[in-house]
Amino acid sequence: LTRHYLDRIAASKHNAFLHVDAELSLAQARAADERIAAGAGGVLTGVPVAHKDIFVTKGWRSTAASRMLGNYVSPFDATVVDKLGTAGMVTLGKLNCDEFAMGGANENSAFGAVTNPWDTGAVPGGSSGGSAAAVAARLAPGATGTDTGGSIRQPAAFCGITGIKPTYGRVSRFGMIAFASSLDQGGPMAQTAEDCALLLNEMAGFDQRDATSLTPEQGNLDEDFARDLNKPLAGLRIGVPKEYFGEGLATDVEAAVRAALEQFVKLGATLVDISLPRTSLSIPTYYIIAPAEASSNLSRFDGVRYGFRADGYKDLADMYQKTRAAGFGPEVQRRIMVGTYVLCHGYYDAYYVQAQKIRRLIADDFQAAFRDQCDVIMGPVAPTVAWDLGSKANDPVANYLADIFTLSTSLAGLPGMSIPVGFGQGAKNGRRPVGLQIIGNYFGEAKLLNIAHQFQ
Ligand code: GLN
Repeated sequence: LTRHYLDRIAASKHNAFLHVDAELSLAQARAADERIAAGAGGVLTGVPVAHKDIFVTKGWRSTAASRMLGNYVSPFDATVVDKLGTAGMVTLGKLNCDEFAMGGANENSAFGAVTNPWDTGAVPGGSSGGSAAAVAARLAPGATGTDTGGSIRQPAAFCGITGIKPTYGRVSRFGMIAFASSLDQGGPMAQTAEDCALLLNEMAGFDQRDATSLTPEQGNLDEDFARDLNKPLAGLRIGVPKEYFGEGLATDVEAAVRAALEQFVKLGATLVDISLPRTSLSIPTYYIIAPAEASSNLSRFDGVRYGFRADGYKDLADMYQKTRAAGFGPEVQRRIMVGTYVLCHGYYDAYYVQAQKIRRLIADDFQAAFRDQCDVIMGPVAPTVAWDLGSKANDPVANYLADIFTLSTSLAGLPGMSIPVGFGQGAKNGRRPVGLQIIGNYFGEAKLLNIAHQFQ
């Protein structure tokens, strides 16, 4: 099985993988075979998986798709990598992504763009674009991703696969290279909800090495996420937020999403019109909070402690400047600048504190809907299908605006999922997938996976 995928990876042209090491993978595969032969394997033992290059991986380069970490080899495994390894999964390699997970098209990678397997003229989405493309192109049966403002859900949608961002704190951030710590959350990406449930079963859990890991006092952590997959959906109340179907939503995406909603009605659910009035505020709120946290997190890349250091500097300050100017790509530098600006003395109250207050109101909108009206919320993942490669590469605001439907969930810390529900028409050629987003209340992952599985 591992050889099969390694051969497919070697023959593929999507630039989904940044590092492959056949010997390392095959050694893990042999160990898994022995475990299975000894009758000690679990359901995932011997199943290959690939990791977004945001998860540090012992013995492999771990770059966050940045020149800054171009030659960095981690001395330890991220908790997620460790847990999937303990379950007997075989690491196939490290996956391309946007640099430090900042982006929504995978065009911000220092190691080149990834192409969408459905239409190689299209972006795969981002920032987990390599993960989504690898699963869609059958280069891996499953992959890890991270979602700070949509980076699991949106590439899953653009590549026609399934992905789930769990409740914030479910999956350990230990060893996940930090972007915006109050938002970052790891999760699985695979072909089906069932596969995602099996992966999440191994990935989730309390970790004392992550200070924001959910504790057993906060909720049941020892869950089987596959337990409800076969539950019927009769009686399910689906909230349909009007703000997710307004101006700016492409007609082909709307048609595919509405057809999926009708399918859920046939499965016994009812549709309820709801409102999430602060949806449009999620863009300015997120693009203050995320860069603020990023500017702080990325201060550790100073040319001393990790990876890259520029040549030809005069003194320490010059070394910092030259290293950070050459090591970080343009989008990362933009976010560091924005982040330090909004945290400045004198601007902090006007931007950062204000954004934190609006963040709370966005979370309140969801709670009002879940309290009185619905069990889950559904809508599009993104306003359009995957766009043409290069078409927004020099327009950061156009990229930010495309995040409108995924940011609120992240700001509220809620679980959200993307499942494939059909195709829209690409701008030029080919069929480009459409994803349906399913948003649940805190700890609602088993319900989301149940709903997705019934649809699939
Ligand atoms: N597209 C968003 C951004 O650029 C989300 C990224 C993410 O979730 N990692 O920040």
